[in-house]
Amino acid sequence: MQCPKCPGTLEEKTYGRKITVHRCSDCGGLWCKPDVLLEMKKEWMSEAVLDSGDPKLGEALDQLDDIKCPEDGTLMEKVADERQIHIWYESCPTCDGMFFDAGEFTDLKYDTLMDRVRGFVKGRRPEG
Ligand SMILES: [Zn+2]
Ligand SMILES: [Zn+2]
Repeated sequence: MQCPKCPGTLEEKTYGRKITVHRCSDCGGLWCKPDVLLEMKKEWMSEAVLDSGDPKLGEALDQLDDIKCPEDGTLMEKVADERQIHIWYESCPTCDGMFFDAGEFTDLKYDTLMDRVRGFVKGRRPEG
């Protein structure tokens, strides 16, 4: 598949038994479906293996609008993550595919971990 954001090609990458995503050979962007994203969030170190692109390049490409779905050509919608609204990714209304710029998945996963740590610390803070 053709990368929706650059001239690169989306190549199939697998991690463990349940995870298959497509990663751009040039910009490192990740293309996946919501069920796979859930597995990626659960899988230890999946971000280090799969989200190996340059976050600076990802940030630059995050500014691009009017991205077309690599599978069906539908104009994709920019959506903010419901828990981390600073993270914007593209979502296809036709096939539910999602595109994360390089570094975005790591951000998504890392913040989820940090939120848990924060909750833990807060819970242990002494009264008064
Ligand atoms: Zn690309
Ligand atoms: Zn689509």
